[in-house]
Amino acid sequence: MTPYDEEATEDYIFKIVLTGDSAVGKSNLLSRYARNEFFPSSKTTIGVEFQTQSMVIDGKQIKAQIWDTAGQERFKAVTAAYYRGAVGALVVYDISRRQSFDDIGRCLEELRVHSDMSVVAMLVGNKCDLGHLREVSSEEGRRLAESEGMFFMETSALNSTNVKEAFETVITEIFNVVSRRVL
Ligand code: GDP
Ligand code: MG
Repeated sequence: MTPYDEEATEDYIFKIVLTGDSAVGKSNLLSRYARNEFFPSSKTTIGVEFQTQSMVIDGKQIKAQIWDTAGQERFKAVTAAYYRGAVGALVVYDISRRQSFDDIGRCLEELRVHSDMSVVAMLVGNKCDLGHLREVSSEEGRRLAESEGMFFMETSALNSTNVKEAFETVITEIFNVVSRRVL
């Protein structure tokens, strides 16, 4: 890198996708992160394809364009266009619904078919506020993530637990990978 490049303000735009079963809380994780809002009704249609969040890492301006499925996952696999160009993914299940954890394998297959091998992925066990209804232990989540080479966090969009942390861990790791590649 030349001294001239070091002084330039660079803009990075990273596309990140949300995936996982219907009703695990993908839209609420995004609205909590981007606007600090939570919707108690599952009927809520947020009606936008993606949200953009900005942050600065090492003096660089980063824009994360975070895509939500807008309910497509209810009817069929989401399309190739949804994944195209994604460099990060949050793969979400609901800790109080075993089926959503059992479906993670299928979500990962879909992600890997449609996106680059180097995609930075985090397994997210959402609704950790529902401890009394828990059907998937933290240990199971951690083990699956480890075996798939993913980050892991349990979150609550309702309580804001680990929401910012989950998105920002993925964004920071993408930045680290990209800046290593540039150097
Ligand atoms: P999506 O289909 O994956 O986008 O899921 P939604 O974000 O629409 O959420 C589905 C339902 O779960 C809604 O009723 C939300 O209010 C609820 N929900 C989402 N996140 C949480 C959470 O962290 N805790 C609890 N208790 N409910 C949540
Ligand atoms: Mg949704």
